[in-house]
Amino acid sequence: MPRVEETILEIDLNALDHNYRVITSKLKPETKVLGVVKAGGYGSDAAVIAEELEALGVDYLAVAYVKEGVELRDAGIKIPILVLHPQPANFEELIDRCLEPALYSKRILKAFVSVASEKSQKAYPVHLKFNSGLNRLGFREDDIPWVTGELSNAPSVTIKSLFSHLAASEDLREREFTIGQINKFRAIVKEMHANLGYKPLVHQSNTSAILNYPEAEFDMVRTGIGLYGYGNDKAADQKLKPVHSLKSVISQIHEIAPGESVGYNRGHKASGTEYSATIPIGHADGIPRSLGKGKGHVIIKGRKAPIIGNVCMDMLMVNVSGIDCAEGDEVLIFGDGQPATTMAQNANTISYELLTALSHRIKRVVCRK
Ligand SMILES: *Cc1c(COP(=O)(O)O)cnc(C)c1O
Repeated sequence: MPRVEETILEIDLNALDHNYRVITSKLKPETKVLGVVKAGGYGSDAAVIAEELEALGVDYLAVAYVKEGVELRDAGIKIPILVLHPQPANFEELIDRCLEPALYSKRILKAFVSVASEKSQKAYPVHLKFNSGLNRLGFREDDIPWVTGELSNAPSVTIKSLFSHLAASEDLREREFTIGQINKFRAIVKEMHANLGYKPLVHQSNTSAILNYPEAEFDMVRTGIGLYGYGNDKAADQKLKPVHSLKSVISQIHEIAPGESVGYNRGHKASGTEYSATIPIGHADGIPRSLGKGKGHVIIKGRKAPIIGNVCMDMLMVNVSGIDCAEGDEVLIFGDGQPATTMAQNANTISYELLTALSHRIKRVVCRK
């Protein structure tokens, strides 16, 4: 790797390839794979990830919003893109860019059918989302007669898939609840198949369900976090490789005399003589302020350097006393060798939040390690 000279986020496409192989090795050969690239490819670079997934042969991509799908089309992505949470204001653009909506309520279904007919569409692919217990988005089981009635008069659309989302697939203490969700969805699918007279694709699993609930595999799985190297589980994490490596440099080193303080509100006070290093990354870049005052650390020369005082907007300070380092030296914030899960736990959050919060001003560097 070239020398790190500023804050960068390395995106390791070989790690992505590796994770894709690990995840697909858990699946039946005929099971289709949808790669989730919402929120900028979990804070990396959605277009770069999408291109690689397309080359790896994934069947589908998913984003949350139409704007994200448009960015992928602009980047030349050709495979089908499911938009998980579209709004009627964007339906025209969605159709113009060949994106496929999840229809999750009566209001959204009616609005989409009306736009699709106005735009003279025939059998435009849509995906029906069912609520099997997450209580976030989706039709309920007792909406099925309304849904099938409405769609039997709507030649402008065709149902490409039926799907649902699990609430706690990573939490084995909720096994009974999750099995209940799977069975409920199975019953919904059965009724839909009977009413429709044809069989759209069926999918319910996210990454943790792929690992924990083979009974939820159906025709396709949707994997996000696993592709980026995290499996919500220690054993899974060991088989996966982090795609994101967040690195920076030491901007300046200070000798701090006993009793002097470091940072805003004098968040740290030196007990003896200490050395602090200032790093050019802060809470505006997605480093939680809760990691200040020793809760989090970075890695310098292979050693842990605790964050001292309060994390600032554009920088943070770490204690490098006893670490043989100099201004300009590389700093690993998280990634290969220091998983994002550790930093997430220290900040009382999850890998998803830490990754997706990384700001756009951090330079992305695509590599193959
Ligand atoms: C984000 C999302 C996923 C991906 O979940 P991971 O835990 O990252 O694998 C799958 N399905 C839906 C509906 C989602 O919103």
